[in-house]
Parts: sequence; structure tokens; C-alpha cells
Amino acid sequence: MNLDRDQLFARIDAKRDELVTLTCELVRMPTVNPPGEGYTECARYLGERLEARGFATQYVRAEGAVGDSERYPRMNVVCRREGAAAGPTVHFNSHIDVVEPGAGWHHDPFAAEVVGSRIYGRGTCDMKGGLAASVIAVEALLEASPALPGSIEISGTADEESGGYGGVAYLAERGFFSQPRVDHVIIPEPLNKDRVCLGHRGVWWAEIETLGRIAHGSMPFLGDCAVRHMGAVVAAFESQLFPRLAQKHTAMPVVPDGAKSSTLNFNSMHGGLAEGFDGLPAPLVPDSCRMVIDRRFLIEEDLTDVKAEVTGILDELRSSRAHFDYRIRDLFEVIPSMTERSADVVVSVASAIEAVLDRTPDYVVSPGTYDQKHIDRIGRLGNCIAYGPGILDLAHQPDEYVAIDDMLDSAKVMALAAHNLLTGVTA
Ligand SMILES: [Zn+2]
Repeated sequence: MNLDRDQLFARIDAKRDELVTLTCELVRMPTVNPPGEGYTECARYLGERLEARGFATQYVRAEGAVGDSERYPRMNVVCRREGAAAGPTVHFNSHIDVVEPGAGWHHDPFAAEVVGSRIYGRGTCDMKGGLAASVIAVEALLEASPALPGSIEISGTADEESGGYGGVAYLAERGFFSQPRVDHVIIPEPLNKDRVCLGHRGVWWAEIETLGRIAHGSMPFLGDCAVRHMGAVVAAFESQLFPRLAQKHTAMPVVPDGAKSSTLNFNSMHGGLAEGFDGLPAPLVPDSCRMVIDRRFLIEEDLTDVKAEVTGILDELRSSRAHFDYRIRDLFEVIPSMTERSADVVVSVASAIEAVLDRTPDYVVSPGTYDQKHIDRIGRLGNCIAYGPGILDLAHQPDEYVAIDDMLDSAKVMALAAHNLLTGVTA
């Protein structure tokens, strides 16, 4: 199937104002998560737009998912357009939720102000700009080549920012992200318009609790302080674990460079009186101290070893430190994911970047996870990448913005890549 690229790109350029309007309207729906505000309105907005352009639209509420309630339904929308002939399905998946704006803004986070060539607001970069670019890309492609074979899907999904269980995971469990329904998935997360994101590192979150014995705070020697025991844990991690993690390097092209090593973050720590108490405390020796750790691991590491490295240090303390005892509880885990560079979706997007931007793309891996994990683990679909406009570092920051030209460029890349995937042209 011959495609006049210049004509396709001109069509996309001609939709500049429409792209800006679409992005602004999406940003003005404050789909803040938590709690998961306004999902239904946003899903319907997207569904109605695509229905008017020949897509069959399905609304799927993730009933029973974490956070789902009558007040905050976890609403998802999946839109599908069957092509003129049999062929593969290309799916663009965007999350519709955004994180809370936080402090430090110079723009109203939900006004979607256009200043020069940028649109400011929460979610412009992560990732309503990417969603809008994929919608415009698909609409322009279908106008340019109405008789394309195969099918195109666009979904708007809930809860990516809180793990994706009321969104992509829920849909993946119901076959929405598996073959034969879907063959290639592109997630327009803000990874920069010239980079193909192949996957992400792994995650292990756990809560470590050190145990002590309660006593009067004026006579701490009669009790056993759980916070001091946790201090020993922190000291042991500093001297043994952090240096070891810094030594581990991955062959995965993780960005930024610091994330090419294993990392651990002390997410939070609490010992003693109940959290949130703000009177005068009772004089007590704390008998419990809890710490949440956030360990990011590499594709070369095994999760069992990652855990053993931590429990090994804790067990060592149990034998070397008087009265030391601990408990550990797994909270969350994700196995690293990385799509092969030879996958059709990678090759197509990479060659489209070359065609549009006239440069060779960078291949990257994300330091944190995103919904690709569910498509890989639950959907068992290897052909998934993240590719979209927006600067990764701006995500979740105050004064988040997306550049309109970047959205247009990435829309061209997405349209050309989708065309090539649908027609079987991969180079
Ligand atoms: Zn995102």
C-alpha cells in the first residue's frame, strides 16, 4: 500500500489547532489520582470523539479494583476501528489519570494555558499530550488511507499512577492486551520524541519492622528501643548494601545514567506513637519501628537474590546485635520488562523517527515502571513500547508542559509507524 508521506505529514501539520484544543480540553478535566476524579467524563469525551469517526467504543469499569467506588468509578474506554481487510491490530494506550498538582506552580495546573509554543498544566506531558498526539495521528492516517487493512485501537485507561490495577491490568486480565485481539502496543508516555522506550527496571517494595519492648521513657534501659534497632538497619544498609548496589550495572539502556545501577530508596519510616498524633506524647520506649523500602532492580538480577541481599543483612544483625528482631512484609513487586529491538513495533517506530526527525533514535529503558508491565506479564504480549512527546523529567513536576511541535512530530512518527505495521512494511 503506497503512502504519500508528505501528504500525511501535511495533514498532521494542518491539525495543529485541533491538536492544541484536544490537549487543552483533556487537561481541563482534572482526573487526579488519587482519588481517581473525573474518569468517566474523560473516558466518555474520548469515546464520543472516536465513535464519531467510526470506532466501536467499549466502556469498561474496573469493578472491585482498588479504589473503585460509585463516587470514583475506575472507568476505562477502549475504541476499535476494523480495517478494510484482515491484518494486525495496532493499539495506542494512554492513561487518563494525572498526579496531584502539588505546590510551586506559576500557571493554573488545570487551565491548560498556551504560552508561545507550549501548553502548561498537570498532565500535559504525562500524558494527555501523548494521548492527543496519538488520536490526531490515527485520525490523519485514516483520512489519508481510509482503506488500510488491520485494526486500530485507542484506549484511555485509569490508575496508571497508582499501579494500573483499575486500568490496564484489569483490561489485560480480560484479554484486551493479548493476541489474537492485539498485536502491537504503543504507549505514548513522555519519553522524548526521538527515543524508543523498550521497557523498565523491576520493583520490590517491602516493609521492614524492627521490634522492641515498651517501657517508661524516663527509664529506656528497662525497655528495648525499636527505633535504635532500625538505626542499626540503616547503618548496615549504608555500609554494606548501598555500596553493593552501586557496583551493579545493567546492559539495559536505562536513562538517566544513575539508574543504570541498582537503587534503593528509603520511602518512609515511622517508630513510636501512632502516625498523625499531634499532642504531647506519652513517655514511652517504642516497641515497633517500620520502614518502607523501594528497591529498583535490573534485568540481570533475580528477585529472589534481591530479597536475600536485604534479609541476609537483617539476619546478620539478628545474630550480632543484642535483642534484635525484625519482620518483613512484601508490598509490591514488578519484574523488569524489555522488548526485543528486533520486534516489529520497535523497528517501525525507530524507522519512523528517522523519517520524521532525520536522526537515529535512542533506545532507552525507563527507571520506573509503567503499564507495559501488565501488557507483558498478564497480556503476554512482547510487542509493546513506550513512545511519545514530552520531556520525561517534567512529569509530576510543577509547571509541567508539553511543546506543541513535539506533539506534532511524534504524531507523524506514530501515524507512519502505525501505517507500516498495518501494511507489513517494517523498514
Ligand atoms: Zn505517565
